[in-house]
Amino acid sequence: MIKVLFLDVDGVLTDGTITYDVYGREVKQFSVKDGYGIVRAINTGIDVVVVSGRFSSQVEKRCRELGIKKVYQGVSDKLSFAERYLKERSLSFESAAAMGDDLPDLPLLKRVRISGAPKDAVPEVKVVVNFVSRAPGGKGAVREFIDYLLKEQENEE
Ligand SMILES: [Mg+2]
Repeated sequence: MIKVLFLDVDGVLTDGTITYDVYGREVKQFSVKDGYGIVRAINTGIDVVVVSGRFSSQVEKRCRELGIKKVYQGVSDKLSFAERYLKERSLSFESAAAMGDDLPDLPLLKRVRISGAPKDAVPEVKVVVNFVSRAPGGKGAVREFIDYLLKEQENEE
């Protein structure tokens, strides 16, 4: 049973490009499809946790809109973060899933029970994960992964 889903931001919830507006603020694009998937996961009782190595106020805002209360930014070591997060809740990596697209995500992706990557993730990531989405990051990749996770859960029950 998957109880926690760790999601990367850049390249997973977004297409990985970073644009700045005329005021120098970061503009990121999120997929509405991913949004529905996330809401579905949360309603099923999965704790959706967004973990990013960078920091952007846009991410906070979008995640709040999606009902994600757990947003951790500026996290340099995602594996240690996840270890602590799960331990505090008396959970293990056996009940965790994660989606990431780049090298900093690798250690965490290798530890969780079910791992996923978007189609345009780096090859090093794609070879270790359990699931690669047909959609690229920011374009429904998270939705596909969540659909896959929920189907796996159903099959287990
Ligand atoms: Mg990334």
